[in-house]
Amino acid sequence: MSRPVGVYVHLPFCASKCAYCDFPSYAGQERLREAYTQTLCAEIAERAARTGPLRVDTVFLGGGTPSLMAPGQLARILETLRAHYEVLPDAEITCEANPGTLERALLDTLAARGVNRLSLGAQSAHEDELRLLGRIHTWEQVAQSVSLARAAGFDNINLDLMSALPGQDWPGLRASLQAALSLKPAHLSCYSLILEEGTPLYERHARGLLRLPDEDTERQLYWNTVLLLEAAGYPRYEISNHCRPGYECRHNLNCWNYHDYLGFGLSAAGLLRGRRRKNPAGLRAYLDREPPFEEALSAADERFEMLMLALRTCRGLDEAAFASRFGLSPQEAWPQALPKHLDGGLLKREGGFLRLTDRGFDLMDRALVDFLPD
Ligand code: SF4
Repeated sequence: MSRPVGVYVHLPFCASKCAYCDFPSYAGQERLREAYTQTLCAEIAERAARTGPLRVDTVFLGGGTPSLMAPGQLARILETLRAHYEVLPDAEITCEANPGTLERALLDTLAARGVNRLSLGAQSAHEDELRLLGRIHTWEQVAQSVSLARAAGFDNINLDLMSALPGQDWPGLRASLQAALSLKPAHLSCYSLILEEGTPLYERHARGLLRLPDEDTERQLYWNTVLLLEAAGYPRYEISNHCRPGYECRHNLNCWNYHDYLGFGLSAAGLLRGRRRKNPAGLRAYLDREPPFEEALSAADERFEMLMLALRTCRGLDEAAFASRFGLSPQEAWPQALPKHLDGGLLKREGGFLRLTDRGFDLMDRALVDFLPD
């Protein structure tokens, strides 16, 4: 029997567009939520007819702001998934939510449909940073959302934070991390801000109106975060992800371990039996059922993707799993690049796993470029 797959569902509606966001998300389009739900459910049914029966061990409702959907719409999406695929009884089912959009009725609906993990976009405990980022909520609303979620029975809660914000120093970031820890989440993600072209923050930076931490400061903030969270009982298990033991995000781990997954909704990508599939990115294009982009990956592409994703994790690449999948060892796949980076100190080999060293985490892109397929 083949291994279970993950499912990602993209829900692109947002209350307003954050100043740093270049994700496929739309503000002011809530009137299209029903049409979107119908299109999404139709996509699931049609795709299931083509993939055949599959077992599902993780579901991730991401966005956008899934908590902006009506409870009944989310319920129909989850029911449609269960009607067409075998969602396993112990599946991890995550829903992203934004403070300021979370209500008890929605949480009760999610819990009743088997959602057992919540991921809250908290970003910062400082009101001026939240305003700069264009977030719609305060820190008080983050704390209220956590309480509301706990009261509805959720104990597996992730908080997303951001680092390397304009003007941010370590005392400022430390205060956000400590405020987040005081809410006792099971999982904490802390991503460095990357300014994406076309976003308001990018434009302000281009006009010289924002000062970003330089590269050395950004790295210092990163490693200070790792040390603080590890000391607080939240070891890092992926570049930007920390949790209490046993609360790793199974959905993301499956992706980093290069397991197959299906993607539904606009811009959602999937990988199944060596074929990559990506839905159109525009809301209108998706609602009009424009066809997805599909491609078969070459063996060299797959080998590179498996390495690149595994190296994001602290566990690293399982050399035996790689060899059994591809019929050759990493050493045979990369006879020059591998010794170069083992000798150069960006990679290390431990207990059958290939891992980045601390320096390798800082210079990951520089290392990976040597492993790219010709
Ligand atoms: S809530 Fe998330 S997806 Fe929506 S605009 Fe903000 S960053 Fe983008």
